[in-house]
Amino acid sequence: MTEQAAWARLTNPLVARAYHSARYRKLRDFPRSLVIESTSRCNLRCRMCPRGSMTRRTQDMPRALFDSLLDQIAEHDRRDMVDFVALHWFGEPLLHPDLLGFLERAGRRLPNLRRRGHLRSAVRGLCLSTNATLLSAELAQGLLDSPLTWLGLSVDGSSPETYATMREGGVFEQVAANVERLLALGRRHPREFPTIAIQVIVTRTTRPELGACLRRWEKHLAGIPHARVELKPYTDWAGQVCEPELEAPNRRRQFLYLNCGYLWDTMAVGAGGEVGLCCYDVNASHGLGNAGQTPLQEIWHGEPLTALRHRHARGELKELPLCRNCRMGRKYPLDYLWRRRRR
Ligand code: SF4
Repeated sequence: MTEQAAWARLTNPLVARAYHSARYRKLRDFPRSLVIESTSRCNLRCRMCPRGSMTRRTQDMPRALFDSLLDQIAEHDRRDMVDFVALHWFGEPLLHPDLLGFLERAGRRLPNLRRRGHLRSAVRGLCLSTNATLLSAELAQGLLDSPLTWLGLSVDGSSPETYATMREGGVFEQVAANVERLLALGRRHPREFPTIAIQVIVTRTTRPELGACLRRWEKHLAGIPHARVELKPYTDWAGQVCEPELEAPNRRRQFLYLNCGYLWDTMAVGAGGEVGLCCYDVNASHGLGNAGQTPLQEIWHGEPLTALRHRHARGELKELPLCRNCRMGRKYPLDYLWRRRRR
């Protein structure tokens, strides 16, 4: 992590306060986005994933816990207050034996969430991301018929060698064949949902193959509404992953700290009910509570999360190792100027 300039260290708390009061003056009653870990089991050992340091128990989310979360989210969905529910976090969701049942119940209980899936400029609605290694014909058809609004399929690279540098335990040819089969099924009965995103993480190894990736999938995507290839920036998960062979060097200094917004928008619930600080908190290690014992709204307004929000708003991140090393909340002045010009 690059050191901040001295002037930035001094001004960061002021900038953080100003940003916070302008953007997050009022805390929402309930999170706008929820990440629900249908399972914390995984069948791959991906190099760019911090799951290798997971110490919490790996398990499938019990049906009773999932249904209780749905009951709570449904109350807010009725008021159209929820934008995004994902059924994946640090596990491979296709390993859950009742994933299609979970999706069916989520679609039935959260009708407004599904409607929100039409906002296609961003990931919205009921979402799922999978490494596609276990995507059988039955599961592919089940996902296409489910109430999902967005389905992410991770296929890094366009060759077995490149894929192998990223996803240990996966076989490129098998994953590509699974994705091709799903796309063929999708073409047979094209429908509005789900949006299908073939996701490629941009790293030193995949970057030379990005053109080939786009060409490879082009013919398979034809005729399917809202199917596309998405390039995902590489992340080191707030300093939890160190893979210099994958990460392109970043020479820019980090000048400003601004609130990342996660603590005001999003809640991540692990397969055992553990609530994480954000999607980067692989061990849900901030003592925020357990959704199996405490209602989500109580955790959302609870003392631990409130105290963390105050620290963020004041730019006091020294004692928060994850946030201290995270790039999510950091912005570069030039990025801002660039974005403003493009608006
Ligand atoms: S700064 Fe990073 S680690 Fe901290 S809450 Fe935001 S996204 Fe998570």
